[in-house]
Amino acid sequence: MQDHTKFNIKMMSVICPQCSAVFATQHLAYMSSITVDSPVEADLHRVLPHPAARAALVAMCPNCIYTWWISSFAPHHFVPDLVPEAPEVEFSKKFAHAVLSGRNSGAHALDRALLAMNGLWCAREYGDSASADTVHKFLELSYTELHTALSDEAWEGNRSRYTYLLAEICRQLGQFASALELFRQVDRKALLPRELIDQQAALALMQDVRPVLLTPQLVEQIFRPKKEIAQPVIEEAVEEVTPEQALEEGLAEELKARGIPIMQKPQAQDIQQNQQQAPTFTRVTSSTIRQAS
Ligand SMILES: [Zn+2]
Repeated sequence: MQDHTKFNIKMMSVICPQCSAVFATQHLAYMSSITVDSPVEADLHRVLPHPAARAALVAMCPNCIYTWWISSFAPHHFVPDLVPEAPEVEFSKKFAHAVLSGRNSGAHALDRALLAMNGLWCAREYGDSASADTVHKFLELSYTELHTALSDEAWEGNRSRYTYLLAEICRQLGQFASALELFRQVDRKALLPRELIDQQAALALMQDVRPVLLTPQLVEQIFRPKKEIAQPVIEEAVEEVTPEQALEEGLAEELKARGIPIMQKPQAQDIQQNQQQAPTFTRVTSSTIRQAS
């Protein structure tokens, strides 16, 4: 499957919510919209064309190492060139730091689970050069955090869909009996096609741990991408990324529901205005990165 996803990473200045340090970090300024042909895996995440794209969703403070979704760092008007830069950390490791920051700051296990799963997906987005060891560690971390989150009865949200995700994580970890038991618990409230749940349970039964790409039909059913935004002319336009384009829709909604603002339009426009004074950005597409590496 040919992936035509384009994205654009820019530098921006932000303020650390923990220690108030101002620093420059990469952020995902643009990502082409999801279409039925976008690669989406059965654990309900859109495969991004480069780990840098997902890593740009989190920021790490160079002063106190606090790491969290970039949207929780307020933008600052300083030109990114003039402030210290975020530490250079390997893309997927930023998510491990974020899980640690979450534990230190008392964030809920579900918030940490979302970050752990993004770390897992980021580790996989290295493609052929993905480290099996790193992927396995993130699978275990995702299991720990998501299992802890689901053990807490106090929160509301699409618990059935998270049960499905935990089942998928168990399957990929080779814990087939647990996976099958969890797939059995997934009900209609998950809002997932029965076909998908049965397909993944069948793979667990066959003791198959491999990640699975969804068919365009399943992508259509689960994500219902808007037809008009699949047109190349709009893909080329530089527009701010919406959380649903970068994150998986359900997870993005969950973050919003949990009070973690994902980059809002008005905020993003402010950033764009500030950056007009300092047009330092790098246009990155999957093709240029493949050529460079
Ligand atoms: Zn800080």
